Amino acid sequence: MLNTLDTVIAFAVIMTVLSLLITLVVQMVSAALSLRGKNLANALALTFQTIDPTIGKYAHSLAAQILCDPIFSDSLWQKKNRNLDENAQKFIAAQRKLRDATLRRLDDPARAEAISKATAEVNTAKAAVTIPNVRPNRETPWGFWAIPWSGAMQIATAIRPGEIYRVLQEMREMTPEEAQLLNIPKQLPEKARGLIAALHRLDLPAIESRVKLKDIAAAAKIFAPEQQKAVLLDAIRDAGRRVGDGGRFDRVGIGFAGPVSEGGLILSAPTIFGSVNGRVLEDLSHELMSAWASTQVHILNDVTAAGYRFLTRPDEDFCVFTVGSGIGSKVFLQGRPSLGVGGWGGELGHLRVDHTPDALSCDCGERGHLGGIASGRGALALARRLPSIPATVSSEDLVQAFHDERPWAVSVIGEAAGSLGRVMATLHLALALPRFVVYGGFAGALGEPYRLLLAQAAQAASWRTGNDWSRMIELGPDDDVSGLIGAGRYLHEFQQHE
Ligand SMILES: [Zn+2]
Repeated sequence: MLNTLDTVIAFAVIMTVLSLLITLVVQMVSAALSLRGKNLANALALTFQTIDPTIGKYAHSLAAQILCDPIFSDSLWQKKNRNLDENAQKFIAAQRKLRDATLRRLDDPARAEAISKATAEVNTAKAAVTIPNVRPNRETPWGFWAIPWSGAMQIATAIRPGEIYRVLQEMREMTPEEAQLLNIPKQLPEKARGLIAALHRLDLPAIESRVKLKDIAAAAKIFAPEQQKAVLLDAIRDAGRRVGDGGRFDRVGIGFAGPVSEGGLILSAPTIFGSVNGRVLEDLSHELMSAWASTQVHILNDVTAAGYRFLTRPDEDFCVFTVGSGIGSKVFLQGRPSLGVGGWGGELGHLRVDHTPDALSCDCGERGHLGGIASGRGALALARRLPSIPATVSSEDLVQAFHDERPWAVSVIGEAAGSLGRVMATLHLALALPRFVVYGGFAGALGEPYRLLLAQAAQAASWRTGNDWSRMIELGPDDDVSGLIGAGRYLHEFQQHE
């Protein structure tokens, strides 16, 4: 009996040791062949190809480049940090100067001279540097047997999606020469630009939800406030029934255009119901919260909701601005919107920036507010004040004239962007915010040249702390669904951490 028991115990011990050994051997083989990194790189490349089918073999090069980045790679065999010598730094600085000069306003009398001066500087600086020809790190998927020391050993085995996006954002700003000096293949900045542009294109569900939202907005306009409220509630309940499992959800997020308290009470709704009293809004809050039986409903301010779309890390500090018919703002500190006790945080649209007696009026009825000048409506009012411009000029005309580089339109948008850029500089100097995301219909229609005008204005208004504002300001996708996506991300990713 005792003998049998001994045999069983010995057998169990041997099996345990054996399975431990097998696990160890598998881990060692996996590490030796860098299998985890290779798998991650292949998955990332495949994702890039799905997002932008035109990217082709560069998807692998881009994935390898990002995962080998010394900042992210957790491998023992890292690439060396990029240290640029003085001449290379001078060359890159000269190239940026030239870019800034070409982006000066067309009616700026010093523009031509600044361009020719910067061009001369670029040429002189270029003569002193040798630009290496950087070969792509990888052009095909990694295989099981692909030799690890041909690059796979440097690949990271884990990375956050937000970090990938940040690297892509940085890369798209580079010139081909700058990329090569940083040991990045020269084609990658253009591929990064293509990828980000593809990410910003609308997919089918986004287009469909946009149509539904338009219907809701159109219906809401027909009725008086009390009826509007009923229509609004009916419409969102109905939308829920059509998309969900018979209207059943775990959680529902509502992005509301007006200040909302931390507890989800609507405090004011000027853009929807005009000036209605607190009681009506409190009732509306409760009706929205109980619109779906046994479902948790969270009401967020719409700009707060959009902010969650752009949050790249759970502890990030940044600021989001919406530039549409009005201006909205929200500062996120440590990944949380800074709303204050009363819920009124993030109303920079009503900061007075023009103190002249005939300053333009804002939606709220007062004069000279940022929202009355830097928004789409504000810029249009600025244009209509020009003696040479007919009073019938439309927003579309203004945007088109801006893209055609017509001096009057460039100067109007320059003024609008100027007042917003200066507010960004104030926020940066007060709170050291490193990142500003601007979204909204007007900002989206004006696009990249507008973003650079904002950066110039912020740079000019800010203490020279060595920050490159053209990298600190980003445009969000021009798709009208930032609030939807952000509210979804809030419920799915961030709410649990609270
Ligand atoms: Zn105002």
